[in-house]
Amino acid sequence: MTLIDTQQQFTVRRPSEGKSSPADRSPSSLLPPAGHFIGGSFVPGSSSDVIDVIDPTTEQVIASVQAGTAADVDVAVEAAVTAQKAWGATTPKERSEVLNLIANIIEANRDAFETIESANTGKPRTVAEDDVASTIDTFRFMAGASRALTSMAGGDYATGHTSVILREPVGVVGVITPWNYPLLMAAWKIAPILAAGNSIVLKPSEQTPLSTLKLAELVAGRIPDGILNVVTGQGRTVGQRLSEHPDVALVALTGSVVSGQAVAATAAKSVKRVHLELGGKAPVVVFPDADLRAAAAGVRNTGYWNAGQDCGAACRVLVHESVAAEFTEHLVREVGTLVVGAPEAGADVEIGPMISRPHYERVKESLAEAAAAGLHMAIGGSALEGPGYFIEPTVISDVPAGAHIATHEIFGPVVTVETFASTEEAITRANESPYGLSASVWTRDSSLSLSVPKQLDFGTVWVNAHLVLACEVPWGGFKGSGYGRDLSLYALDDYSRTKHVMINHGA
Ligand code: NAD
Repeated sequence: MTLIDTQQQFTVRRPSEGKSSPADRSPSSLLPPAGHFIGGSFVPGSSSDVIDVIDPTTEQVIASVQAGTAADVDVAVEAAVTAQKAWGATTPKERSEVLNLIANIIEANRDAFETIESANTGKPRTVAEDDVASTIDTFRFMAGASRALTSMAGGDYATGHTSVILREPVGVVGVITPWNYPLLMAAWKIAPILAAGNSIVLKPSEQTPLSTLKLAELVAGRIPDGILNVVTGQGRTVGQRLSEHPDVALVALTGSVVSGQAVAATAAKSVKRVHLELGGKAPVVVFPDADLRAAAAGVRNTGYWNAGQDCGAACRVLVHESVAAEFTEHLVREVGTLVVGAPEAGADVEIGPMISRPHYERVKESLAEAAAAGLHMAIGGSALEGPGYFIEPTVISDVPAGAHIATHEIFGPVVTVETFASTEEAITRANESPYGLSASVWTRDSSLSLSVPKQLDFGTVWVNAHLVLACEVPWGGFKGSGYGRDLSLYALDDYSRTKHVMINHGA
């Protein structure tokens, strides 16, 4: 492959450079109350310990939230158990009205949610806008879908007996969310869980609790008390207690594989149901007949979205060796147009910072290891000057099979390019990953577009697209990416239980 050397230097655009967008607002006037949200109101925790919430663009503390304890979880679960009894007895229509109300509340406060989310995560305004729009759509979809739910038709399957299949809520669901899409990942859980008649105790990421607390503040008194409770704090305390609590029927976690393993191990002791959406390392398989410009643009738009901090990011390209140089040239040109900066530094900013200093250090370390191994940085490859945890958009080309950077989740603006010689090799190499969340195939050959996805071991496979999501279709992984499905009617199944009632005609 031809090596392409691009000397382009990325810089971090700051708001002081005069390109502030009109939608800019300081988050300080919008911050939610401190405290856990239990039984419909904010209450102090049992400990005086707090967790500082940092803006990763400025490295400044923007708020402090309670470091919840096991005792706080117990109070929240009690409230959720009480609330679930009445909530579980409501009709789908009544629950649908509550979900639509939540959607309306978020819609009426769009700007506040976008501002808080950008301040807490550093994500560009356009990403925050997309997150909030998708959050609203998630609640609206589940509001409609929950009214169309059916179970298997009843019937007479044993002589003199009639069977009825009931769909029931599971009870109280513990929810644990990550930092990359704090509000949207909360919505992916809250909407189907409430729609199915359950109540919730939710622990947001200790790094990004603000938008979830804001949601609690805005729905307080407008939805039934206790159906949605929020306890802030660390995974090893609050998350651990949710996973072991005897009155929690199911724990749903979106997060890393390590956290998923911890939750599943703890939940096993009480034979709790578990729903896990874990990491990913999406292969992007580019065949020689593909529209290479479109494939490169697709990787630009979805490998670097949210600064690559996305479980479905198009981060691992496998391109046929005959077109690798041409594809890489297109990709490097595309990536060179990305604007790095603070969320309020202009509507054209596409790359924000890493979420935290430890994560930034991890990404930097992965890049240093790749450089030390002699891998070629076709563009980017370094950290950018602070304040803020910014990393250059990076393309690493000519990556050999099995390289650490191409097999482990980096979760930053880093795309690797490997080559393959045959379709069989492409499929084998794509599947040689501990993850199985999502993948894409780029080809104009109709036969390949049908046969290759069937052989890929991933929960979502796009053809000539990547990271296109819709509420109607399921999202979830295979292998190390977990089990259970978010979105779609499948999520409603995951948060329901079925009961068979058989009636003896002769009794
Ligand atoms: P993380 O695992 O560090 O944290 C996720 C949540 O789990 C946090 O709320 C954390 O406090 C909690 N937690 C940590 N240890 C725990 C424990 N022992 N018991 C209970 N809870 C615990 O993940 P993160 O860094 O916040 O998010 C990034 C990860 O999430 C990446 O691996 C990414 O791929 C994954 N992710 C997956 C999806 C998906 O849909 N599959 C979506 C978004 C993010």
